[in-house]
Amino acid sequence: MSLYPLIESRLPADRSRPIILTPDGTEISCAALIDRAARMAAVLRANGVVPGDRVAARVEKSWDVIALVLACLRTGAVHLPLNTGYTASEIAYFLGDAEPRVFVFDPAAAGMAEEATRAGAVGLTLGVNGDGTLAEATDAAAPDPEIAERSDDDLAAILYTSGTTGRSKGAMLTHGNLASNALTLHEIWGFREGDVLLHALPLFHTHGLFVAANIMLLNGGTLILLPKFDADEILKLMPKATCMMGVPTFYTRLLDHPGLTKEATKTMRLFVSGSAPLLAETHIAFEARTGHRILERYGMTETCMNTSNPLDGDRRAGTVGLPLPGVAVRVCDKDARILPPGEVGVLEVKGPNVFKGYWRMPEKTIEEFRPDGFFITGDNAVIAEDGYVTIVGRDKDLIITGGFNVYPKEVEDVLATLPEVKESAVIGLPHPDFGEAVAAVIVPAPGVTLDHKAIIAKAAESLAKFKVPKVIFETAELPRNTMGKVQKAAMRKDHAETFTAKAKASVS
Ligand code: AMP
Repeated sequence: MSLYPLIESRLPADRSRPIILTPDGTEISCAALIDRAARMAAVLRANGVVPGDRVAARVEKSWDVIALVLACLRTGAVHLPLNTGYTASEIAYFLGDAEPRVFVFDPAAAGMAEEATRAGAVGLTLGVNGDGTLAEATDAAAPDPEIAERSDDDLAAILYTSGTTGRSKGAMLTHGNLASNALTLHEIWGFREGDVLLHALPLFHTHGLFVAANIMLLNGGTLILLPKFDADEILKLMPKATCMMGVPTFYTRLLDHPGLTKEATKTMRLFVSGSAPLLAETHIAFEARTGHRILERYGMTETCMNTSNPLDGDRRAGTVGLPLPGVAVRVCDKDARILPPGEVGVLEVKGPNVFKGYWRMPEKTIEEFRPDGFFITGDNAVIAEDGYVTIVGRDKDLIITGGFNVYPKEVEDVLATLPEVKESAVIGLPHPDFGEAVAAVIVPAPGVTLDHKAIIAKAAESLAKFKVPKVIFETAELPRNTMGKVQKAAMRKDHAETFTAKAKASVS
């Protein structure tokens, strides 16, 4: 089934019921959202959009963005959400690559109109307060009742990967990918009438869009749509909610807030975490403070969600749980040999959730799939005897020191147990002798002066010698992107020069 009819079929019979709430108390009913999407679809069609056309959007979060997503689905267009942090020159690449018919952008964003023109796209604007040329044309348009016919295999969206190395690739996601994944998650996480989800994630990323928003659309409501994460605001609204989905930083920031208590979370039934590793310590601390065990899941732009800890059953801290129904996972070595439980290798996945390929990159697509259809995720993982999956880091973050493999997470987990460490990121830096040396970038606990030698000695109590950090760098905050992912490539770059020069001097 294509996504739009599926969503409409799941809305409550009483369309006056709210589907979106905004922090200022505005309620958007199902009828109002559908009407807005139908008018917006009319505007897109008037601007030449036909099924299969791309509609790119670099817009700040508002309920109109959800109307735009639905409008794309109604016209059969391929929705192409773009990170609101992208500059005009970055946008030029995406528009040049995707060749959208329409490019929707925030009226306040500089240089976007010029990029739309350069790419031969119709430029329309959409602001957060119902302003902009698209919003105004939508107000004036009559609702277009037509809903384009799309099949399971047709594209619903292209999401560009974060592209920390090399060119960002457009992951082509079909109606079947998005519909099947949202239905599965809706089912296994027990979504039901009366659920209210705190939505503080961006709407340009798979987590906020295809997990959080799609699940709640399939639930027929209700989303509390916040422009961004703000611990005060979240805690203020929590009594109205039953669920939250977040990246690990949401949880560490909530833990830093004195307002996070059992009482404050008493209406909540589910906290989900994903997009970056949740430290076992965070999981444990959150349970101690609130009585809730965070449910961690794992996915990526290319695959939607792959694994999840169970709703009922053992939510195992530090793991990403079990494969979702219909999803197969395995761990392989570089030569595609399937490894037994307990051995670390690269995780591969197959299922209805896995994307169709990279936009206009057939060779890259072939490279990243095995002949039997498994997608090579690039995440290093281990599968336990009982099926629980643990992610131990990205393949490219793996450190090889003196010929030994070091999975950063193992070292980070040990550092996290030390009271003087608030958090850490472990990276490999070029070393003349070892090839790479293990380095730890540490955020000290508040008020602590780090004794580097003591930290290294404590780490050595539980880690093999080759895994122990050779050097420690201190920082006030780890560099993270909007999805809470630590930017290890940037850290490697920042620290490599000074470290390698010093290491060279000490070796020679
Ligand atoms: P993205 O495509 O931006 O969603 O990033 C996907 C990547 O985020 C995955 O390939 C993993 O490296 C990482 N990731 C997502 N969820 C988790 C998780 N629960 N634990 C560890 N890493 C995760």
